[in-house]
Amino acid sequence: MPGSRVLDGFRLAALRDSGLLDMPPQASLERLNRLAAELLGVPVSLVSLVGERRQFFAGQTGLSQPWAAHRETPLSHSFCKHVVARDAPLLIDDARTDPLVADNLAVRDLDVIAYAGVPLRLDGGETLGSFCAIDSRPRCWSGRDLQILTDLAALAADAIELHRARTVDPLCDQLTGLPGRALFETFLARALERVVRREGAVAVVALDLMDFRLINDALGHDAGDTLLLAVADRLRDTLRTEDAVCRSDADHFLVLCDTVDDEADALRVAERLHTAITARPYGLGAEPQLITARVGLAVSTCADAVLDPAELISSATTALADADAAVARTDRSCRARAGSRLRLRNALHGAYRRGEMTLEYQPLVDLRTDRVRGFEALARWHHPQFGNVAPSDFIPVAEGSGEIVALGEWILQRACADLARWRRQHPDADLSVAVNIAPVQLRTATFFDTVATALSDTGVPPDALTLEVTERTLLDDRTAHAQTMHRLRRHGVRIALDDFGTGYSSLAYLTRFPIDLLKIDRSFVAALGDQQNAAALLHGIVTMANGMDLRTVAEGIETETQREQLRDLGCTYGQGYLLGRPSVASEIPGLL
Ligand code: C2E
Ligand code: MG
Ligand code: MG
Repeated sequence: MPGSRVLDGFRLAALRDSGLLDMPPQASLERLNRLAAELLGVPVSLVSLVGERRQFFAGQTGLSQPWAAHRETPLSHSFCKHVVARDAPLLIDDARTDPLVADNLAVRDLDVIAYAGVPLRLDGGETLGSFCAIDSRPRCWSGRDLQILTDLAALAADAIELHRARTVDPLCDQLTGLPGRALFETFLARALERVVRREGAVAVVALDLMDFRLINDALGHDAGDTLLLAVADRLRDTLRTEDAVCRSDADHFLVLCDTVDDEADALRVAERLHTAITARPYGLGAEPQLITARVGLAVSTCADAVLDPAELISSATTALADADAAVARTDRSCRARAGSRLRLRNALHGAYRRGEMTLEYQPLVDLRTDRVRGFEALARWHHPQFGNVAPSDFIPVAEGSGEIVALGEWILQRACADLARWRRQHPDADLSVAVNIAPVQLRTATFFDTVATALSDTGVPPDALTLEVTERTLLDDRTAHAQTMHRLRRHGVRIALDDFGTGYSSLAYLTRFPIDLLKIDRSFVAALGDQQNAAALLHGIVTMANGMDLRTVAEGIETETQREQLRDLGCTYGQGYLLGRPSVASEIPGLL
């Protein structure tokens, strides 16, 4: 199954913006393919653009019919999707014996036996596909082969950039037809020149769709495009003719309000824009979808003129990064806070790929036998400049930016790989691992596959993996959540309700979701010593859980008294500093 990188909305948008999909073969690319075939002594070379459901050959040499005529295959026939998924070169000497691709249909239908592909990466960083060489006989790829392909892929990327610059109107956004960022800045510069000569103010409103990635992931790329078009239409309809709107980034719009009276007036306009795009649902997929958006505002008045368009835009964007308010303005303190959030958000992107992320494991102990039954994986981030950042600070940011989807996939893989190793070392201990899952992750269409792949890649049995969700996930009334959870449960995966007692603690939804384990929040445990009714409440929860055939875990056990009380109350498992602090993976074998 292609990883989430293949389906990444920003990547797919860059692919469409390349202007190459479904276009006639590119002579410059085909020249590079022939060069590759010649230099490497292979029959086939491709420039393959990997889309949501197919790979399209912008250039090729040596393909047999009918593939050469169709110039595309479904992803079932794609080796190149693996290059995109891992964003790294892939060398396969004999596909028939390689577990990654042995059952790939290209082996049968296109006679692909040996394959060498390198990512086709644009200047902006998005990987569109793969530049590859293919042989119908096994072969042992050399370092020189890889070097040649890497150089040719870089040349191919240059050719694609050039093609785009020539064919796409550089001043307008292809999808929405809105002015592009450069044109917008020109409009804004003119408006700012005017404002110093007259009364009034100029405002820039930045809008960011919070759910764009989700829509793309859950409903597909076409629905994402439909959403962007609809948002552009609503913005146009809300504006006066002298105002301008542009799409500055995938899901990011800028609005120029040329004729506002003052800041208060500008704020009203910003609120109107926010209402226009969030108050009514959009017709995407089967059900109407409401979306959320953040809005940032920056104003330049004749008295207090900002003359640099880029500065005004950046102020609006900075205000936007403050997710606390729907419409945020730039005052000084808010700017500082917003600035740090924005920095965190940027720094977080790809942090796991740079080796800044690690996992710590906290033991889960059977309170009746005192034996370690498993571990909860807890994410740790060490940034070269910011130092250690607490999960309570970066997880919400990762959820807001959508980064949690890729990061979560990495965490699942890592945790399962570590568990597999400990299970091999201690075959009798029947160890398990618990991984925290954010609501956004459950909503992506690929989540089930992500979990199933992590399990099959590492050989961990499904019932040794617990996914921890919070009440937030259950209260968010999307049927997709329940469906995915039931599907995972049928696969054998366990589901735990984390931090039970901190939210609504309504028991009704426990029956609607396939929960195996209730994790009682540590605030209950902390109250045990000094609040009389705490023990009664805990007793109630444990009795009720046992009645529903749920196991219970008490979180945050710090004292011997708490441990004894919880055991006597009938709580099955415990976690907490008394039983074991979160530790790095290398220390776990010592604990066992
Ligand atoms: P959580 O899932 O409820 O994790 C338990 C938190 O309680 C951990 O904090 C753990 O270090 C802390 N803890 C454990 N025992 C004790 C104790 O005896 N006393 C006290 N005072 N604290 C204890 P941590 O690691 O800072 O994680 C905080 C939260 O961040 C987690 O709460 C979880 O909601 C989130 N988180 C952490 N890792 C991940 C992750 O990989 N993915 C997602 N989506 N969320 C994560
Ligand atoms: Mg947890
Ligand atoms: Mg918890």
